Amino acid sequence: MPIKDNLNKIKSELPEGVTLVAVSKTKPKEDILEAYEAGQRIFGENKVQEMVQKWEDLPKDIEWHMIGHVQRNKVKYMAEFVSLIHGVDSPRLLKEINKQAKKHDRVIPCLLQIHIAEEDTKFGLDEKELYELISSDDFKAMENIKIVGLMGMATFTDDKNQVRKEFAQLKSMFDDLKSKLDDITILSMGMSGDYKIAIEEGSNMVRIGSSIFGARNYS
Ligand SMILES: *Cc1c(COP(=O)(O)O)cnc(C)c1O
Repeated sequence: MPIKDNLNKIKSELPEGVTLVAVSKTKPKEDILEAYEAGQRIFGENKVQEMVQKWEDLPKDIEWHMIGHVQRNKVKYMAEFVSLIHGVDSPRLLKEINKQAKKHDRVIPCLLQIHIAEEDTKFGLDEKELYELISSDDFKAMENIKIVGLMGMATFTDDKNQVRKEFAQLKSMFDDLKSKLDDITILSMGMSGDYKIAIEEGSNMVRIGSSIFGARNYS
């Protein structure tokens, strides 16, 4: 199906209050424009340089979300324009985002990535690290970042109960965080293969790529 039909179908199925991030990583500008013409304004990328190139070339009312693992030395390239960074998984990274945001006189909204999957290949903080981070003096002194929620990726498995359990765990951390920090509103969980379960478990931001743009070709 054409991109716009995929997009409209998914949008029509999302409950009110769930934000769609169209994950356009590896996809050409033409594909992004097709989704843009169909009304989509939020796009997710996982490589800083690729996102910068697309930001330069595409309409300026697009909101760019960084959904991938971020290396600290790349933060400076996106600090001017990035709308939301989903994958913040260390105090050092957060500190660098704060520093680069300050140079642009911005406050950059960030999500803390939590490790919920069984696989140890996926990035993220555990619960203890999360609470250590938000209670640190360093964190309290950062004026150019704002933590607005949590992000997580479930284990890549056909076991739906496992996936559901992991999302439920993240939702309960999200609810708890709300009682500890102001401005906690976004729970980013769910991709093409598991977004329906994620929404049932309380997600309000889904990151969907292949179901909109088709399978990716990594060459
Ligand atoms: C690629 C990616 C997605 C989208 O994956 P699809 O299965 O194509 O929907 C979502 N989140 C993250 C962090 C990704 O890297």
